[in-house]
Amino acid sequence: APVFASRLRRIKPSPSTSAADRANELRRQGRSIVNLVVGEPDFDTPAHIREAAAQAMNRGATRYTLMTGTPEVRKAIVAKLERENQLAYGLDEVIVTSGAKSAIYSLFAATLEAGDEVIIPAPYWVSYPDMVLACDGTPVTVACPEADGFKLTPAQLAAAITPRTRWLLINSPSNPTGAAYTADEYRALAAVLALHPHVQVMTDDIYEHIRFDDSRTVHLLEAAPELRARTLIVNGVSKTYAMTGWRIGWVAGPKAYIQALDKLLSQSTGSCCAVSQAAAAAAMDGDQGFVRDSVAVYRQRRDRTLAAINAIPGLSCRAPDGAFYLYVNCAGLIGRRAPDGRVLETDGDVVLYLLDSEGVAAVAGTAYGLSPYFRLSIATSQDVLDEGCRRMARAVAALA
Ligand code: PLP
Repeated sequence: APVFASRLRRIKPSPSTSAADRANELRRQGRSIVNLVVGEPDFDTPAHIREAAAQAMNRGATRYTLMTGTPEVRKAIVAKLERENQLAYGLDEVIVTSGAKSAIYSLFAATLEAGDEVIIPAPYWVSYPDMVLACDGTPVTVACPEADGFKLTPAQLAAAITPRTRWLLINSPSNPTGAAYTADEYRALAAVLALHPHVQVMTDDIYEHIRFDDSRTVHLLEAAPELRARTLIVNGVSKTYAMTGWRIGWVAGPKAYIQALDKLLSQSTGSCCAVSQAAAAAAMDGDQGFVRDSVAVYRQRRDRTLAAINAIPGLSCRAPDGAFYLYVNCAGLIGRRAPDGRVLETDGDVVLYLLDSEGVAAVAGTAYGLSPYFRLSIATSQDVLDEGCRRMARAVAALA
């Protein structure tokens, strides 16, 4: 049998991908499936962005670019950070990556030694712990209960820091809970970090534009500019501009880190797709109407789906501040009995029951490090969401 490295044996395939595969397989078998798994916008990339990509391709943007990214897209990133986040970065303080996913992985690969710890507030995006493990680090997950708004408290942060702590990872608004930190909450966390200068911060801002209240997403560095020298910003165009397939993300931070990533990526992925970089620049520099319009649609879906979920006895969901997921509390279903006699003991059992009985596909909370919950994506049409809620209500009503 083939033999693989221990770093590969330490990690598992993405649970959301596995859940999506299972739903697709059942659909192929002819089952009627309501798929609420997918974590990508259901919109097409806006026409002006596709057009800019076509023009770039026809102009000859078909070759390797600078490893850090074309000057055009780096200028667009710097302008975006200034315009939207009030943060000043130089062109040599940003690097383009093949999606935010590769940005985060590369930062860990460039900085972690065996045993270095990364503090990951839970619930977390499924990939964080496995990325840390793949880079020989130790994920230190901290459960952030619903009662605390699914957010890390200063006391929890202080308790989690050790001399081996290398990074604190912040994802606001969060996948899967949609929770977003306020400026005051950031300042309270920064006060703890002030006592531990060896701890660096990585912010994953990929959902920053998808907000349901009228507030703008505050960046950690706006609230606590003193952290700039030890903070690395990760972001990208995937979620904001419905560009998941274009694979453009980036890192902004102190030049030494950008140079380290330049070196690592120049010996691994190489430069990013030239056409996609032109598209990403057009997305950031161009008209932002799509962002406003798509967020308005996500907001309507959130409101309506949230109300439907909260009307199902045994399920409850806290209103997310942003992103496009609902993290549904299913504690009220644990211990109940399905018509076939099976007792629902975990959120994994609940998710399997919803799939088996009514064909509703979701992802169990265990994947995100906080149970008993399951995640629904609202990046799908209202009709599909309404049908999903009807089926869930029926499935729950059939429990003894
Ligand atoms: N960060 C979070 C929290 C995500 O949910 C995702 C995608 O699901 C990503 C990063 C990856 O983004 P990209 O498509 O830019 O790699």
